[in-house]
This record gives sequence, structure tokens and C-alpha cells, in this order.
Amino acid sequence: MGLLTIGAFAKASRLSPKALRLYDELGLLAPARVDPVTGYRLYAPEQLDQARLVAWLRRLGMPLARIQQVCTLDAGPAAQEIRAFWSQVEADIAARRDVATFLIDHLSWKDPAMSPIAEPLGIRYAALSDTGLVRESNQDTVYAGSRLLAVADGYGSAGAPASAAAVDALKSLETHSIAAGNLLNVLEDAIDQAKQAVHDVSDTAPSSEEAGTTLTAMLWTGSQLALVHIGDSRVYLLRDGELFQITQDHTMVQAMIDEGRISPQEALSHPQRSLLVRALGQEADGTPDMRLHDAQQEDRYLICSDGLSTVVPTEEIRRVLCDISEPEHAVRELVALANSSGSPDNVSCVVADVAELQQ
Ligand code: MG
Repeated sequence: MGLLTIGAFAKASRLSPKALRLYDELGLLAPARVDPVTGYRLYAPEQLDQARLVAWLRRLGMPLARIQQVCTLDAGPAAQEIRAFWSQVEADIAARRDVATFLIDHLSWKDPAMSPIAEPLGIRYAALSDTGLVRESNQDTVYAGSRLLAVADGYGSAGAPASAAAVDALKSLETHSIAAGNLLNVLEDAIDQAKQAVHDVSDTAPSSEEAGTTLTAMLWTGSQLALVHIGDSRVYLLRDGELFQITQDHTMVQAMIDEGRISPQEALSHPQRSLLVRALGQEADGTPDMRLHDAQQEDRYLICSDGLSTVVPTEEIRRVLCDISEPEHAVRELVALANSSGSPDNVSCVVADVAELQQ
């Protein structure tokens, strides 16, 4: 079979002649021959596979530079590259969906004072942080008050002041009343202040080693809990005896699990399992996940640093949260369990129960 004209090739590959000319100029899909007299582009039938691949990748919304890269790869690595691209697209959509859900939930929120619910709800809480058995100092910071719950896990030479600065920056949320409709802005401002505070700490740190922190916090609004989350501390919700992890770890291994490169089982022993892809720090991506959770009476929340979740199995955590009713006793038992498993890292827990306010 001879060479195809650009029109015939366009029809067979479902790319327009205009697109084919553009891809030629970009070096993405060069014609087999260009007629020296007429300048017409001619394509070989064997080029159809690549052209069809380009067409499909365009339909996925892949940028041209990345398509160019995929086209140079063999089938296996090309598939891997497309998987990585798509996982990034899904993460972007998930982040936008979170904001949309947050806004919908927030705007549909009814003032509990106007509804016939008998008793207003509040939170009962306790927090505990422990150095563990191996580390020399505690770089975690915890906070629990009647409106704000927070865990920050610092890293680097100034990890402890970094995590303390991040949590301190949020404490204004504890005292200032938040106008309805303004919650998302208030949280975003608080995160910006926390970022700034962490940057100030690393600027003044004596060592050049980068310092930063994770930050996971919940703000009680009177009927809902607003969550902001950056890093690998976690939030679990215990509802009706079932334990749900409601945050996603911002770690390299979690990204690899999402892309199908490793299994959750392999992640447990991965040498880079604590490598963060998001954090508050100089070079880090500090974009927070933000979400709003409707509170139900008898819900129990646990915020913990990775010093708990990496050494104590989830089922053990669930058992403690189910069996021990006092938040104060529950945090103590969780820290004790981490220590009995060797506690290679600092361990921090906040337990908060949604309950009727005592009159
Ligand atoms: Mg840690």
C-alpha cells in the first residue's frame, strides 16, 4: 500500500488535517514524505497506530508535550505513563469536588437554633502527645479545645517549633466567632498564617536542613466539623462501631498505591513510606484538603500522627475507641499501645466525641 494523502490519513486516524499539520510542526507526528514540489504531506499506513494513539490521548486531555513523551515509549512504559497522568487528573478533580462539596454543605447548613433539635451538640475531647521510645525529642504538637482540634508532626532540625507554630497559628479559630458563609475563607486564611509561621521558623533555624510540618485540624462549627489536612497525620471517624479513615495520606507511597504501582501491603514496608508529597515547609506543596462533616451524636473522631497509625493496627485502634468511653483514657491507651509496639516515632492523639452539651 502506498503513501496516503493528508486527507485520507486524517480520515483514517480521526485527526483533522489541521491537527496533523500542527503535530508535524511540533515534531509529534512527522509525515513519511513531503512532496518537494507541492509541499503536500504524505503519510505511511504504518503511522496510523501512532496517529490513533495521539488522537485518543488528545481526547483524554493530555498536553502535547506529554503525548510526545508517551509516543517515544514502548507499550508497557507508555501504559504506566498514561496511568500516572490519569491519576493526577483524578486527584485534581477530587480536590475540586472537595471544594464543591464543602460549599454545597456549607450553604445548605441550617442554623441549629432554628431547627427543632432538642439539645445543642458540643464536643468532649482529650489530647496527648508522647516522645515515644526511640526519638530524643518530641516534634509533634497537639491541641484540643472546645472548637479546635489539631495534630502537627514536625520534621527537620526545627521540626518541633515548626509544628508548634502551625498549631499556634490556628488557635485564633478557637476564640473568634465565624460568620456564616465565611467558613471556607476563614480556614484558608488560617492555613496561610500557619504556612507563614512555619516559613518564619525555618528562616530563623540555625541549620540549613529544611524544616516543616504536617497539619491536620478540625474546627467545630456548632453542628459540623470542618477538616483541613496536609501531610500524613490521619483522621478516623468511629460511627456505629465502624472505623473510617476520612483523610488521605499525602505521601509518595499513597500516590504509588493510587497509581497502581504498589499494593497497600507493599507500602507498609516501603523504604520511602514516610516521604511526604504535601506539607507546610519552604519547598513543600502546602495545598490542604478541606471538607465539612455533618456531626451526628455519638460520633467519635480520632486525629493522630503517623507515630500511632504506622505501629498500631487499625483494628486495635477501633477496639480502643469502641471500648473506652472517656476521651482522656482513650488517648492514654492509644499512646500506651504505640509504646508497647516499640514507638519508633513521636506519637500523638486527639479524641473528640460529639455529644449533647451539658446544661
Ligand atoms: Mg511522625
